[in-house]
Amino acid sequence: MVTATALSALPLPGIAPKKVTVLGTTGSIGQSTVKLLEQHADAFEVVALTAHRNVALLADQAKRLRAKRAVVGDETLYAELRDALAGSGIEAAAGDKALQEAAAMPSDLVVAGIVGAAGLAPTLEAVRRGATVALANKECLVCAGELFLGEIQKHNATLLPVDSEHSAIFQVFDFEHPEGVEKIILTASGGPFRHYTREQMRNVTPAQAVNHPNWSMGAKISIDSATMMNKGLELIEAFYLFPVKEKQIEILVHPESIVHSMVAYVDGSVLAQMGTPNMCTPIAYALAWPERIATPAARLDLARIGTLHFEEPDAVRFPALRLAREALRQGGAAPTVLNAANEVAVQRFLDGKIGFLDIARVVEQTLDATAIHPLSDIAAVVECDRAARLAASAISDTMRA
Ligand code: NAD
Ligand code: MG
Repeated sequence: MVTATALSALPLPGIAPKKVTVLGTTGSIGQSTVKLLEQHADAFEVVALTAHRNVALLADQAKRLRAKRAVVGDETLYAELRDALAGSGIEAAAGDKALQEAAAMPSDLVVAGIVGAAGLAPTLEAVRRGATVALANKECLVCAGELFLGEIQKHNATLLPVDSEHSAIFQVFDFEHPEGVEKIILTASGGPFRHYTREQMRNVTPAQAVNHPNWSMGAKISIDSATMMNKGLELIEAFYLFPVKEKQIEILVHPESIVHSMVAYVDGSVLAQMGTPNMCTPIAYALAWPERIATPAARLDLARIGTLHFEEPDAVRFPALRLAREALRQGGAAPTVLNAANEVAVQRFLDGKIGFLDIARVVEQTLDATAIHPLSDIAAVVECDRAARLAASAISDTMRA
């Protein structure tokens, strides 16, 4: 759980720059983070940047930000990265171990911007040295849940949400009086197929599904938004981040993505955080917390927008919402299996191997086929994730696009 009082002894802006490492720097979250670090070059010192395969962009970012080290996850790309950085004085490294070492380098704050459970090991390295972690990578919280939080507590690390909904709640939640909170309300855009019938969804293409109406994001989260699994993952994320019960977390469709989420109090007050849909705002909040820094995000002009809309989510057309809530209620390995099966199914859909509606089917069938046990440690999470991927792959093989 994040607490407003978990203030670590970070240097004050203007006195000493905050040392930052960015995991997944070439992605959508990573690039927005780099934009902010460049805009506030005096306030931040960049320690390490990591990417999976995009050596050209990684090397360019490392030079622009004068990072100490750049790391590419794909080991075969080491020589390419080393050559791209030749003469710059920036260290080059490659491979999964090097990703973890980058997270372990001393820094005040680590932006966890890798997509999927692949981000778990490096993010845990940052947690285990007591760093402040700005968490975009919701999958690692979904798959490791309480065990991840246990590591945060054990190592006195600080967790700051970057996901826009969770940043919104973090900004309006009264952590000193949690008993005054009635519920939290996660808003959802509803994605590109908000009005589609199941029949219409059957034949949608990956290109249609990644084309989100409000946000520009990586492919995986864009598909998750189209199936609404993203909101399911965020429900689980919110459960772990904030001191509320599963029943106290509501989902509300809000197609304009202006109200990023809300906290309702027992006296009838509802506090919302608003802004234009631009991830620079929540990323900046985590980078500068507990201060604020300027961002290039377009300013909110409510008079021009005029009307905001809200509607109930439809768990029949979007079964991923139901599956995620059931997995959260079931607990143990269920969210780990849900997440792993979803990652496999989304990739299969992006590769044109299964249909859009098959994504939730793969997740449901994988959950049905798996005996759900409690997970005792992180090694058990990794093993459960591996086994669920195998099961989901086999189930996907029985389906055809
Ligand atoms: P993306 O696909 O654009 O970028 C992913 C980054 O992770 C890239 O830098 C890539 O090189 C790296 N990466 C991918 N696989 C890796 C692997 N196996 N090992 C090491 N590095 C790897 O994704 P994104 O949209 O930036 O999303 C990143 C995370 O942030 C996701 O968990 C997503 O759910 C979350 N998030 C994103 C947004 C958004 O607006 N994009 C909003 C909220 C939360
Ligand atoms: Mg979100």
